[in-house]
Amino acid sequence: MAQLNDNYLKLKAGYLFPEIGRRVKAFTEAHPEAVKRLIRCGIGDVTEPLPSVVVMAMHRAVDEMAVRDSFKGYGPEQGYEWLRSAIAGTDFRAKGLDVADDEVFVSDGSKCDCGAILDILGSKNRLAITDPVYPVYVDTNVMAGHTGEADALGAYAGIRYLPCTAANGFTSEPPLEPVDVIYLCSPNNPTGATLSREQLRDWVAYALKHRAIILFDAAYEAYISDPSVPHSIYEIPGARECSIEFRSFSKNGGFTGVRCAYTVVPKSLQASTADGEFRSLHPLWSRRMTTKFNGVSYIVQRAAEALYTVEGQAQIRALVAHYMGNAALLVSGARTAGHTVFGGINVPYIWVSAPSGYTSWQAFDRILGEANVVITPGSGFGSNGEGWFRVSGFNSRANAEEVSQRLQALRW
Ligand SMILES: *Cc1c(COP(=O)(O)O)cnc(C)c1O
Repeated sequence: MAQLNDNYLKLKAGYLFPEIGRRVKAFTEAHPEAVKRLIRCGIGDVTEPLPSVVVMAMHRAVDEMAVRDSFKGYGPEQGYEWLRSAIAGTDFRAKGLDVADDEVFVSDGSKCDCGAILDILGSKNRLAITDPVYPVYVDTNVMAGHTGEADALGAYAGIRYLPCTAANGFTSEPPLEPVDVIYLCSPNNPTGATLSREQLRDWVAYALKHRAIILFDAAYEAYISDPSVPHSIYEIPGARECSIEFRSFSKNGGFTGVRCAYTVVPKSLQASTADGEFRSLHPLWSRRMTTKFNGVSYIVQRAAEALYTVEGQAQIRALVAHYMGNAALLVSGARTAGHTVFGGINVPYIWVSAPSGYTSWQAFDRILGEANVVITPGSGFGSNGEGWFRVSGFNSRANAEEVSQRLQALRW
C-alpha cells in the first residue's frame, strides 16, 4: 500500500490567491461592464518586457545552439563558471564582500531554492519565521514535516512566529529563546520593511551565539534606495559563518517567466551533525544540486550574464526606477486617501492599513467593488497582516496613476 506524504494534508489549502481569483470571478460575472475597468495589483509579478541586453543575449545563445560546433548540452549543475564569476565579482567582491565564485549556485528560482535548502538541514531544527511572511518559507517546512498541525488562525505548531506589526515597523528582533533556523526577507515582501545594519548585526550575533542559520532572502535587493540599508547579509561581519543568501533575477531583470536565481552558500558555514560534530554545508548543497538538478538552460544563463554588462546594469536601474515611480504614485494616493502606508521606498509594494473597522478581506471587497482594483489582503500573509493590504507597483505607469486616483476617490 503506497502512502502519501501526510504533511501535505496539514497545509491550509492554498487559500490566498485562489480566494482572490474566486472573488474577482464572481465580481466580473455579476458586473461584466466593469471588466474593462479592472486593474490587477494583486500578484507580485512583473509586467514590463525584458531588458534589451537580455533579449539580444538570448537570441545569440539560441543561434549558438543551432550550430553543431557551438551547441551546448548539459552544463555544470551549479551554473557556468562565467556566470558564477560575474555574479560573485559584481554583486559581492566589487562591493568589498568576500564571496568566491564557487560559493554561488545558479538555479531556476529563489522560490525553489528556499524550499530545496531544507534537503540539507536536519528535521528537528527550531524555526523562527516572521508574521506576516512570504508563504513559501512556512509551507515548505510543513511539507517537509517540520511542523505540527495549524491552529484556527493558521499558525503551525512548532514554528516560532516573530510578530511584525506597525508598532515595531514590521521588523522583528531576535527572540529571547534559542532557535536554529531563521528566515529573514529584506526588503520585505509583503510589508516593504527593511532590516537596518544594526538590526542585521543583532541577528548575526544571535545566530553566532546559538549556532543558528539565517536564511536571508534578498529578492528585492535591487530596489533598495536608502543608502543605510544593507544589500547583502554578508555586509555584516560574521555572516559568512551563519548565513545563506538567496537572490533572484525575477524582480531586478524581469525574469519571473525566464527563471534564473542564485544562492550563496559560504564554505565557512557549518552546522552540527546528529552527533554534535560541526561540518561545512557547502559540499552538501553542491551534492544536492548535482543529484537533484541539471542546471539552468544555457540560453537563460547567457541572459542573466547580460545583466552584468554596463548596459545591463543601466537597464536594471531603469526597470527599478519605473516600478518605484509607480510605488511612489501609489504611496501618495493612499496617503491622500487617509491610509497609513508602509513600504514603497525600498520595494515596489505598498503596505496599506484598511480603514478602522475593516478586515483585510472587507477592504479587498470594497476596493474591488467600487474602485475595480485587485489588491492582496494582508491577512493572507499571516495573522499580523490582518487589517492591512498590499498594493503592487508592478504595473504600467498609466495603471499605477489610475489606481492612485481611484484609491483617493473611494469613500469609505
Ligand atoms: C519574487 C520573490 C522571490 C523570487 O522567486 P523566484 O522563484 O526567483 O521567481 C523570492 N522571494 C520573495 C520574497 C519574492 O517575493
